[in-house]
Amino acid sequence: MDLYSGWRLAKEALGGHLGWKPAWRDAAPKAQYQVVIVGGGGHGLATAYRLAKEYGVTDVAVLEKGAIGLGNVGRNTTIIRSNYFSSENVRFYETSLKLWERFEQEMNFNAMVSQRGTINLYHTDGQRDLFARRANTMRLEGVDVEHVDKAGVKMLAPLVDVENGRYPVLGGFLQKRGGTVRHDAVAWGYARAASARGVDIVQQCEVTGVRREGARAVGVETTRGFIAADKILFAVAGHSSRLAAMAGFRLPIETHVLQAFVTESIKPTLDCVVTYGAGHFYVSQSDKGGLVFGGAIDGCNTYAQRGGFTMQEEVMAAGATLMPALSRLRVLRQWGGVMDMSMDGNPIISRTPVENLFVNGGWCYGGFKAIPAGGVVTAHLVATGKPHPLGAHFGLDRFREGRTIDERGVGPSPWAH
Ligand SMILES: Cc1cc2nc3c(=O)[nH]c(=O)nc-3n(C[C@H](O)[C@H](O)[C@H](O)COP(=O)(O)OP(=O)(O)OC[C@H]3O[C@@H](n4cnc5c(N)ncnc54)[C@H](O)[C@@H]3O)c2cc1C
Repeated sequence: MDLYSGWRLAKEALGGHLGWKPAWRDAAPKAQYQVVIVGGGGHGLATAYRLAKEYGVTDVAVLEKGAIGLGNVGRNTTIIRSNYFSSENVRFYETSLKLWERFEQEMNFNAMVSQRGTINLYHTDGQRDLFARRANTMRLEGVDVEHVDKAGVKMLAPLVDVENGRYPVLGGFLQKRGGTVRHDAVAWGYARAASARGVDIVQQCEVTGVRREGARAVGVETTRGFIAADKILFAVAGHSSRLAAMAGFRLPIETHVLQAFVTESIKPTLDCVVTYGAGHFYVSQSDKGGLVFGGAIDGCNTYAQRGGFTMQEEVMAAGATLMPALSRLRVLRQWGGVMDMSMDGNPIISRTPVENLFVNGGWCYGGFKAIPAGGVVTAHLVATGKPHPLGAHFGLDRFREGRTIDERGVGPSPWAH
């Protein structure tokens, strides 16, 4: 692998930047692989990297219908944290956060990992008690979290109007190690590291069908021909249910669009990620100075990567209530991503009814922060056929057996929001 360093940067700058090579091989597909991963997003690439690194499985292709980094992995609001409600989830997301902390060293790639802190604001006594319960679970798992009172919120995020008339802020729970990561760089970093270990990254290759022989899948039909595989993984985020239909089964998933927004750049004013529980709004300031924010899903089923005005208005209203200064800024860009909303608001990393076919999906609002641990858990499942202890609770069986995960379920209908 072409190593990156400060010395190298200086050398290339003096030489007119002519020495850089492509970060990964843009491979042509072979006729057959040991493992085919459908979807070159964060989870597909992280899984490919872990398969090669931890299990020595390098006869792997990652098939991406577009270009690496243009799916949800490059469309999200970049927030990472591990403040979850159930012990299993705290352990899983904390593993991810620890991997984020060493991501740049491990990948030799600058992903601008920034542990600027994330604070969840509360607005009622009941909400405080619920967050306190979450904080206690985190502490029992050895994960950091602090209570911040109203004055503390004002100090931390002066733009927040703690006395706002709609939902005044009573305080918040701060996870100092939470923060942001440059999203598309995560995909590029994993693609480069996986490719260097022999994985084929195949772009512009859409899977259009799954060929089955009885209970097994034997390969995938693609826009670049048939590709045979011993094992297949779907890691296609918002398209999980479409791929499952191609293989002949259904997933408890609905697809919705989630929007994000960025304003013009301003001076540094917001030094942490703020989430506004009452109005479903979250915001951080990017390294370029724009305020990046988002809210809830649009609420209607769609595969479109854009959103509607109704939710735009709702997000802006929530934002302007929480931070009145926001209403003085121009929103430069808005975009959307397709979300696979599972029925308990939690991911699915699982075997499927098809013998040699696995799925990583159902990430709902929060799969970006999960990418490093998602790769670890999914690679283990694909390589060994057994669930990794950290992700055993993400199996599909839970829906059939009625033991869905009691996290804050933000699926499309069971806990309609
Ligand atoms: C606006 C928005 C804000 C978000 N904010 C956050 C956040 O702050 N923090 C957080 O943790 N999460 C956030 N998320 C969620 C997070 O981005 C996703 O859960 C996560 O990125 C999904 O996993 P992925 O990276 O593998 O998906 P993707 O990057 O979408 O990867 C799936 C890939 O599969 C490809 N694909 C689909 N169908 C096919 C096919 N038939 N053949 C070949 N390839 C195919 C797609 O092109 C895509 O590249 C947000 C999402 C959105 C849209």
